Amino acid sequence: MKEFDYIIIGGGCAGLSLAYELEIHEKLKNKTLAIIEPRPEYKRDKTWSFWKVVPHNFDDCVKKSWKNFSINVPGKTIHLECKNYPYQSIDSGLFYEKINNKLKENKNISFFKDISEISTKNSFIFNSVPNIKKNHLNLWQHFCGVEIRTKNDFFDEEIFNLMDFDCEQRESVHFFYTLPYSKNKALVETTWLSKMNDNSQKDYNKQIKDYINGHLGIKDYEIIYKEEGAIPLFYPLYEKEKNKINIGTAGGMTRLSTGYTFLNIQEHSKYLRKQIENISNSKRFEISKKYQFLDDIFLRVLNKNPERMSDIFFKMFKTPPKTVIKFLSNKSNFLEDLKIILKMPKWTFIKALFD
Ligand SMILES: Cc1cc2nc3c(=O)[nH]c(=O)nc-3n(C[C@H](O)[C@H](O)[C@H](O)COP(=O)(O)OP(=O)(O)OC[C@H]3O[C@@H](n4cnc5c(N)ncnc54)[C@H](O)[C@@H]3O)c2cc1C
Repeated sequence: MKEFDYIIIGGGCAGLSLAYELEIHEKLKNKTLAIIEPRPEYKRDKTWSFWKVVPHNFDDCVKKSWKNFSINVPGKTIHLECKNYPYQSIDSGLFYEKINNKLKENKNISFFKDISEISTKNSFIFNSVPNIKKNHLNLWQHFCGVEIRTKNDFFDEEIFNLMDFDCEQRESVHFFYTLPYSKNKALVETTWLSKMNDNSQKDYNKQIKDYINGHLGIKDYEIIYKEEGAIPLFYPLYEKEKNKINIGTAGGMTRLSTGYTFLNIQEHSKYLRKQIENISNSKRFEISKKYQFLDDIFLRVLNKNPERMSDIFFKMFKTPPKTVIKFLSNKSNFLEDLKIILKMPKWTFIKALFD
């Protein structure tokens, strides 16, 4: 069976980001790489959005970028600016196409559908398939989004809505998210932070229809794209092995309080590319322990007090937007962390710490 220097298991966001990073820095000129990806074809299946706090390789895959956003809780709205760190949405279809076109040019890179087709004996493996044991106590961010085209111009394309909590909560944490791509096109997403141990929150089509018709007041529209998924708000199992590194969600790149993963994947890819000549001895790349600790407390509070979360998120955004954005994007300093922490209901968080 054929052997390769490197194997990437899973040609999704993390697998392809790493392969692209290695390829454009000429790390695959004299090395071979196998990418294992079972999907029959690549098509647009996700929209990756984030505040651009660091450069990345995919500005040409950005569908739209915004410098203003809003947050709603029943009866209250705040408008915020993010011109220093624009919010970008990446179209996964453009991302897959750009990377696959580039990788095709290198004869050292091969694609397979299943790992059993090649030998893994002497390879270094980058794995992006998470090992998740089913546990009904685990929290997930689960959601469904539709891109709609309205008959008449409706949206203000200069401002997106990050969270609208003015919707049914069902003893959980629920909000809508609206990204206006143009005056008559937007992604509208229903998002839940919950234990997901039954299907009672998964009537997504109805939730979205009611929100678009009732809340936004749009009657005449068509759905032109749909995405659905779930992000674990816990770290998948990660066993240390000498010739293997986990990447992507499997590698702990998801920020647990927010689900943001895309930019962490990009930073991880850069780190691995820099370490590639000495990869077996490289130190594990992690989201800093400070955020792991703070997110753990945050999720404990969320678990115990779902009814308070809309208010807690709203309060968090009463800090200058630059500070919150840096905090949510793992780039805040001690003073900025403190500003956020001081906005939180102290006793609720202290109690969660000792629970
Ligand atoms: C619908 C959706 C929207 C999201 N939106 C955002 C966002 O706005 N911002 C953000 O930062 N994050 C977002 N995320 C979170 C995160 O960025 C994505 O989940 C991202 O795709 C994670 O990358 P990954 O490579 O870890 O996983 P994936 O992109 O899922 O890649 C894993 C790959 O492994 C393949 N695979 C599965 N089983 C096997 C197997 N046995 N062998 C080999 N390959 C296998 C899959 O086909 C897939 O291609 C979103 C997630 C989802 C699901």
